[in-house]
Amino acid sequence: MAGTATSTPFSSDLLIDGRLVTGEGFVEPILNPATGETLISIAEASTDQVTAAIQAADRAFSGWARTTPQQRSALLLKIADAIEQGADHLARLESLNCGKPLHLARQDDLNAAVDVFRFFAGAVRCQTGQLAGEYLPGFTSMVRRDPIGVVASIAPWNYPLMMAAWKIAPALAAGNTVVFKPSEHTPLSILSLAPVLAELLPPGVINIISGGGESVGSHLVSHPKVRMVSLTGDIVTGQKILQAAAKSVKRTHLELGGKAPVIVCNDADLKAVVEGVRTWGYYNAGQDCTAACRIYAQAGIHDRLVAELGEAVSSLRFARKRDADNEIGPLISARQRDRVASFVERALGQPHIERITGAAVHSGPGFYYQPTLLAGCKQTDEIVQREVFGPVVTVTRFDELSQAVDWANDSEYGLASSIWTQNLDKAMQVAARLQYGCTWINSHFLVLSEMPHGGLKRSGYGKDLSSDSLEDYSVVRHIMARHGQLTD
Ligand code: NAD
Repeated sequence: MAGTATSTPFSSDLLIDGRLVTGEGFVEPILNPATGETLISIAEASTDQVTAAIQAADRAFSGWARTTPQQRSALLLKIADAIEQGADHLARLESLNCGKPLHLARQDDLNAAVDVFRFFAGAVRCQTGQLAGEYLPGFTSMVRRDPIGVVASIAPWNYPLMMAAWKIAPALAAGNTVVFKPSEHTPLSILSLAPVLAELLPPGVINIISGGGESVGSHLVSHPKVRMVSLTGDIVTGQKILQAAAKSVKRTHLELGGKAPVIVCNDADLKAVVEGVRTWGYYNAGQDCTAACRIYAQAGIHDRLVAELGEAVSSLRFARKRDADNEIGPLISARQRDRVASFVERALGQPHIERITGAAVHSGPGFYYQPTLLAGCKQTDEIVQREVFGPVVTVTRFDELSQAVDWANDSEYGLASSIWTQNLDKAMQVAARLQYGCTWINSHFLVLSEMPHGGLKRSGYGKDLSSDSLEDYSVVRHIMARHGQLTD
């Protein structure tokens, strides 16, 4: 990959105003969650460096905002090409830093990141909107879509490079400048890309600063020159950002957690459900806000589903020596693993909840937790209501479909959901009633660059991906020209 050849496999420099600089803040260890070992220690951005990055983005804004969609598109395509050329290296970093199987990081995360840059390179050149016209005689009105200014983008640790792509590509495509902060746990892939971004983009258009939420993120989001904050993260973090944003009335774009309901009707294709939940309930060790984690199974299929799914889940492969043998990785940290363990412990303290499989920390190195299936769960149980963000799926029995829909909607979250039935008529009726940003029918989890991804309720608002995202990262403006009228 151009510009990334170094003697160590890790780049640790921040990107500020087109220059690669060493962080001047706290030095933090970056771990490999599959072993618990420290990969490298990286100095995060100091407060002065955060300010410098914001000022650089602010200076770069007027020039970048005046570039044409065609010019920005050409640069986004070059970024996509650079990621594609460096995909093997970037996937290795992603795998080391998140513990995820390398073959999956290469195939899923990297291909998705490339596609997102290519999608926005195209989408920004063919945006649509209201027609210009004489809505008042003698005046022509037209609508422009213009960039917002400096966007602070803050990402979580579950898909570091893909989340970076989701945030950086639409923001730049729309003509904004960006200060991007990866999770303090997972900065390696985007820092490795920083030299390429420095080479391709004018100074200040994209700045990468790493560091913790309180030490770096809070300064970033409260700076008055930042006009928009985009976060993918926890609800509590979203609330803090809203408070900080209120002071200077910044636009916010929040992708918060999820607790996806999976409604399985008696007439569902059982084999497909088992395969689907085995894959999409546990993908990325369940560290996914759309994970198929909250099953509602109708009485006629419930027992067979629990039995077959239990067997399927216990066959999930992880912590094996050969990368290709692994289907899932560890949790991101010992803290996250212990958090998952305590959720399960509290659940199993309830006499009605039954352990079908898993429910233990994996013995051996790394932050692994056994893929877990719990049955007999009730709607009011903590494990059904709260996001675990780990490889834990619950099953709750229902009789009437309307009950399952009510339970599915009885949640603080509203990101993703699915309905499994061979009756499309029924599926469409349920899909219409579910209060979720996405509903899959006889499937789960699949996300496309062309389609909007985002939530309702406490899952946040704003859309990632799709042309809707371009709208979120831009403002609509009315231009009205007075020109009189020709008389006959
Ligand atoms: P987190 O909220 O702890 O951290 C997310 C990011 O916010 C990190 O970069 C962190 O440093 C930063 N941050 C934390 N406190 C901050 C503050 N006060 N000011 C500014 N920045 C701050 O979340 P996480 O643990 O990294 O990720 C897991 C969470 O993200 C889960 O709740 C998950 O559901 C959610 N998530 C949501 C989506 C979605 O699309 N809705 C996708 C992935 C993850």
